[in-house]
Amino acid sequence: MIHDDEKKITVSAVYRLLIASFFTSVAFAVFFNIYPTAHIIDSIIPSIDAIVLLTVLIYYHYSPHTVMNKIIVFFIIFFILTFSPTTIYYVWMAWGNEWRFIDEYPPITGLIMAIITLSVIMLPKKYKRYMVLMWASIALPIIYYLLNHPEELQTPRGYELIGTFGPASLLLYIVFPYQKSIRRHINKVTDDLRRFELEAGRDYLTDIYNRRGLTLWLGQLKSDDQIAILLIDVDHFKNINDRHGHSIGDRVLVEVASRLRSIYFEKHTIARWGGEEFAVILVNPKANTLPFIGSMFQHTLGSLPYKSVGKVTVSVGVSKIAPHDSFLELIDQADKALYIAKNNGRNQSIIYSESLKQPYSRAS
Ligand code: GH3
Ligand code: MG
Ligand code: MG
Repeated sequence: MIHDDEKKITVSAVYRLLIASFFTSVAFAVFFNIYPTAHIIDSIIPSIDAIVLLTVLIYYHYSPHTVMNKIIVFFIIFFILTFSPTTIYYVWMAWGNEWRFIDEYPPITGLIMAIITLSVIMLPKKYKRYMVLMWASIALPIIYYLLNHPEELQTPRGYELIGTFGPASLLLYIVFPYQKSIRRHINKVTDDLRRFELEAGRDYLTDIYNRRGLTLWLGQLKSDDQIAILLIDVDHFKNINDRHGHSIGDRVLVEVASRLRSIYFEKHTIARWGGEEFAVILVNPKANTLPFIGSMFQHTLGSLPYKSVGKVTVSVGVSKIAPHDSFLELIDQADKALYIAKNNGRNQSIIYSESLKQPYSRAS
């Protein structure tokens, strides 16, 4: 579960990194073509980059299930191939006294550091050594060159370059633990949230679904799933409370729930509907099995004595079968059937039908 969240964060981070890099390449390509430098390489590389990045973005858009690891490794290789050859080219030529490195090296140090910093913040920690590699492939040739050419180092650009790739890069090491603690915090919060969500859907006493949990469970059903509902109400529960006390009453409810849990048959779920009333939701039941299922619940809950109070009986009202979005209507049917079961003397299961005597009219 946590893994899923981390993956989502990473996917969105990588997507953003690719898009940002694409627009940056386009901007540099346009800029260097309008105001060319003395070196054609400066305008060619960003143009190629923009095309490569666009291709990857389109590919990724149409195959979103590509393994993220592949895209990240692509991004890192892409970064190194973009900046490292350029850097080595300028260092190499400057060493051969073609020109002074500080005069010719393109103004891309800010960009390089920005991308490395963003990568450190946005990508998972396991790519840390790749980011060190990204930094080293560019910073080491420059630092080495400048240390060997103090006359170039002791210029504003020289100091700026060595400062950026030297001390300023070390600041990244502050970001690593910070990023780690943010991720840990996010994981903990997501974890807590999941647990609270789970708990909020459970009845505290019996640890089966409450209404909220039941509603969420119903939401997971397929749109063409049909359901039927059993409402089960403990008979004369008030007497149990009065005779044995409220906490023994509680224990009976826990035992009812555990008996409900032990009943195993095709797809269904159980919930505490309220007080001493429980709901069973059957998924895609066959109509001719409903009377049997109703009595099965009635007998499983009512035949054997309860540990704490002995004999307890229940009444069951069973709805008809309908699409699951008619849930409230079915609850109503089950409730009416339950009312009849109570009126007929309790300890029985009644299936709803339109011909049942209208339970809520007292006229009968
Ligand atoms: P009937 O056979 O008609 O269902 O009678 P009954 O006594 O079971 O029904 P009634 O609705 O009169 O009483 C239900 C009682 O259930 C009243 C209430 O105090 C008790 N009750 C509801 N929730 C809990 C609970 O969580 N724990 C305990 N111990 N009692 C509860
Ligand atoms: Mg009752
Ligand atoms: Mg009741």
